[in-house]
Amino acid sequence: MATNSKKQKSTASGKTAASKDASWPNSPCPSPETTSPFDATSTGKFKQAIFRHLTYTLARDLHSAQPHDWWIATSLAVREHILSRMISTQAVHNRDNVRRLYYFSLEYLMGRLTESNLYNTGLYDAAREAIKDPDIPVDFETILNEESDMGLGNGGLGRLAACFLDSLATLDLPAIGYGIYYEFGLFRQAFVNGSQVEHPDSWMMGGTPWGIARPENKVTIQIKGRVENVFDDRGNYRPRWVNTDAIIGIPHDIPVAGYDTNTVNFLRLWSSQSASEFDLAAFNSGGYVEAVREKAVTETISKVLYPNDKTENGKELRLIQQYFFVACSLRDIMRRHFRNPENSWDNFPSKIAIQLNDTHPAVAIAELMRILLDEEEMQWEKAWGIVTKVFAYTNHTLLPEALEKWSVGLFDRVLPRHLQIIYAINDRLLRLVEARWPGDDGKKRDCSLIEENGGKSVRMANLSVVASHAVNGVAALHTALLKKQLFPQYDELFPGRFQNKTNGITPRRWLLDCNPRLSKLITSTLGTDHWACDLDLLRGLETHADKSEFQKAFMEVKRDNKNELAAIIKADCQIEVSPDALFDVQIKRLHEYKRQHLNLLHILALYRRILQNPNLDIVPRVFVFGAKAAPGYDLAKNIIRAINVIGAHINADTRIGGKIKVAFLPNYRVSLAEKIIPAADLSEQISTAGKEASGTGNMKLALNGALTIGTLDGANVEIKEEVGDENIFIFGMNVDEVEALRAKGYNPWNYYNADEELRAIIDWIGSDYFTPGEHGAFAPLHNSLLNGGDPFMVLADFRAYSDAHEKVDALYRDKAKWARAAILNTARVGKFSSDRTIREYAKDIWSLPAIKT
Ligand SMILES: *Cc1c(COP(=O)(O)O)cnc(C)c1O
Repeated sequence: MATNSKKQKSTASGKTAASKDASWPNSPCPSPETTSPFDATSTGKFKQAIFRHLTYTLARDLHSAQPHDWWIATSLAVREHILSRMISTQAVHNRDNVRRLYYFSLEYLMGRLTESNLYNTGLYDAAREAIKDPDIPVDFETILNEESDMGLGNGGLGRLAACFLDSLATLDLPAIGYGIYYEFGLFRQAFVNGSQVEHPDSWMMGGTPWGIARPENKVTIQIKGRVENVFDDRGNYRPRWVNTDAIIGIPHDIPVAGYDTNTVNFLRLWSSQSASEFDLAAFNSGGYVEAVREKAVTETISKVLYPNDKTENGKELRLIQQYFFVACSLRDIMRRHFRNPENSWDNFPSKIAIQLNDTHPAVAIAELMRILLDEEEMQWEKAWGIVTKVFAYTNHTLLPEALEKWSVGLFDRVLPRHLQIIYAINDRLLRLVEARWPGDDGKKRDCSLIEENGGKSVRMANLSVVASHAVNGVAALHTALLKKQLFPQYDELFPGRFQNKTNGITPRRWLLDCNPRLSKLITSTLGTDHWACDLDLLRGLETHADKSEFQKAFMEVKRDNKNELAAIIKADCQIEVSPDALFDVQIKRLHEYKRQHLNLLHILALYRRILQNPNLDIVPRVFVFGAKAAPGYDLAKNIIRAINVIGAHINADTRIGGKIKVAFLPNYRVSLAEKIIPAADLSEQISTAGKEASGTGNMKLALNGALTIGTLDGANVEIKEEVGDENIFIFGMNVDEVEALRAKGYNPWNYYNADEELRAIIDWIGSDYFTPGEHGAFAPLHNSLLNGGDPFMVLADFRAYSDAHEKVDALYRDKAKWARAAILNTARVGKFSSDRTIREYAKDIWSLPAIKT
């Protein structure tokens, strides 16, 4: 019977560096003692649990059960195992009154949960065997494919939060994630005539086994209204926030099981409910619909995720979403803290750390101040002392359009008392600035929480820096630019507050789960599966990189994965691709700064070269794209259409003998990334230097043996340091060169005029050649590259990019050299495990000890 858990208890202890302090989390892969009364580790018991849930939880007849029912029953079978561990983990955390980390994020891009929970609990093999039972008419893969992604995020920021939750639990760190239980996640993308069309993502339809409602922990919060300026009999200002609207938040808990450990944390997501069932007056006068209307409006708060990645458009509902979830979460944290009689406000900061994932939850700063000042009647200095000890802030971007600002008018309407508090924080801040730089109005303008540019607005990033004891960037380069370009004034005013925490990815989902073939090869080569929680062990593959047998095995895995992806491309795009071709992959949100259009220019250049010389000897390539554009981002949508339409033209052109193919897979999401990444040969990370804060797609692809073609941007810089210059294709301008060119005055026409090939392909885009009968189809793209000034300097980097691709082509012809470089990518990117990232946060920012349960 193949019931043995996937993980043989590890032999090698596998500690590479002895650098780990005993009080910090340093013990991945402990041996779990399974004491669950619902122990389902064996195939037989797991099978029983599936049937039990099908019958007694879902009330389904065995013979009429649908694949979706089998998925829910399977999930419930593993869930009962996880829940008993969750109850015991939380019991220990509560009993011992442990310090906890609270991660505040408006986004969690979790993907599917059943498979990763099976892996993390060691029940994967038991479940797979159980489902082979002849009484179960669907196969394992079909069952797992029934699950909709939990897509409650836009891209990298939300996915980072999900990777962090996995590492926190795996490292036995007491932590709770807080966010919103969106009824609709990020839209589902379809293409119609090459254009993106958005459909609602009703991921909850049919029920989800992973969200557990906790109505007993509901919270009521207030918004809007006005402030009455009242003074008490001792003359103290005691403002009263009155005439507010009440909103109820209902928590839904998603258990988060650590890998190969008993620790189960949870993610607590809030859904909104109207506080008033009915407007009774309206109901009594016969206005049933009007009576229900207000209820419907309140319940829109948790209805849908805003689909904008890195742009904010100042919508009232978005601010209400932000306030709703942080206000509910702070109440919940206080309830947990004060139910222990030993606790008080005095030890609040020693028990509670709150991490702000970007500025989206930054209004929590003002809310905690309001609670302390107005409800607890605390003195300002004491309240501020608590707030600044509790909060830390992660900055995710330097792009000016992505820095959140709220107009004072809107803020005043939604949160009038919070606006007063922000002004009061600002008064004290500006006094500090005056003391430090007397008479320097420029410094005051830079530091102020309020921007005065015609209208006034609240700068949420400034508020976050001022109120946090630690502020971090997400890659070394990003942090350096954060200090030097965005916040030099604060770096001077608060020395030591800024620090770097280079992002990471969980090796469980992004290698162990998504690439079983490579995982198996690695485990058999290293003689341990311990690498899944000590990713530096992959360095042990270096000594095999030159062995032709290992190279062959490694590239066979890649080829099998490419065949699997080829089947998906056939099914989703109706395009035939060969696994002999080089799979050249760019998968990420569609953004000008990420420069999918630079990739397109290169495709057009290759196409033109082949047309000019049909015998041109190039390595066949499949260009794979995955990208969603924000629904209101017209240029991004135009780029999608251009790639689709030009791609279809190229795919259909028999003159080029199938040397290049373009496949734009619709609806890029976590579960699709898990199929594309194991099959990638080349990873496109080609943002304009200085614009990508870190990137994490770059890490996932390198870990799975793709070589990077990229600029010196974000974490690419650190990937290059790890894998070595000869195993990565770096091209184009660096940050200093971008700045120098900008300072000199960048003019894309100079590059257009000087480069015959570049001129021809841009003219092609501007012509109607690819859209006969439709004039100016790609005018937005064409215009952005020339008359629009090419803000992301695509033309300036084009020639270097094209040259780098020729080096890719040359290396790919040498099978042994390519295999060696691919192996060394996998072997050398252990640094980018989110376990390493989380250990650094736990030590340097949260002072958070691990707790074995
Ligand atoms: C990792 C990931 C991202 C982030 O990709 P970048 O290339 O770093 O922008 C976005 N979306 C999904 C679905 C991901 O898995």
